[in-house]
Amino acid sequence: MTRRAIYPGSFDPITMGHLDIIERSAKLFDEVIVAVLLNVDKHPMFSTEERVEMIEQAMPCGNARVATFEGLLVHYAVEQGAQVIVRGIRAVSDYEYELQMALMNRRLEPAVETVFLMAAEAYSYLSSRLIKEVFKLGGSITGLVPELVEQRMREKVKGQKGERKRR
Ligand code: ADP
Repeated sequence: MTRRAIYPGSFDPITMGHLDIIERSAKLFDEVIVAVLLNVDKHPMFSTEERVEMIEQAMPCGNARVATFEGLLVHYAVEQGAQVIVRGIRAVSDYEYELQMALMNRRLEPAVETVFLMAAEAYSYLSSRLIKEVFKLGGSITGLVPELVEQRMREKVKGQKGERKRR
């Protein structure tokens, strides 16, 4: 049987913490689907297409691929023939929310198991939200996101500034 795992998230944008979790899962499972959740945040920095493209470019392992999904995660997992949902845990603060989700998902679909992984310590404080905040305020995010992501963020902010000037 193919051991297939789904790693869901918003990935707005993908960080080294996410990539670390993808690499670890790819070692544990035959196939990993990095699933980008559609339409959660009303004001994402990157469109779904942009996020998918950046993940594709940064993908560290041959047995991991990217996809998008909407609706209930467990429905998507069953549809994809995945037995496992992978989530990353950073600080204790992630735990409560993740526990609620995992138990609700188990209730909805007992056949799908949630597995928690820890990224390398160096990335344990990283979140996409923090990356965006630091970047917008002019701080360096080098080494915390793939180079392409940093480049795209620069272009995005330049574009927004240009737009504001034209208004
Ligand atoms: P974020 O929380 O960074 O905005 P997502 O919602 O896209 O990102 O997160 C998808 C999954 O990846 C979640 O399970 C989240 O806890 C996990 N994750 C994100 N960043 C890290 C990290 N630096 N280390 C471990 N897990 C992480």
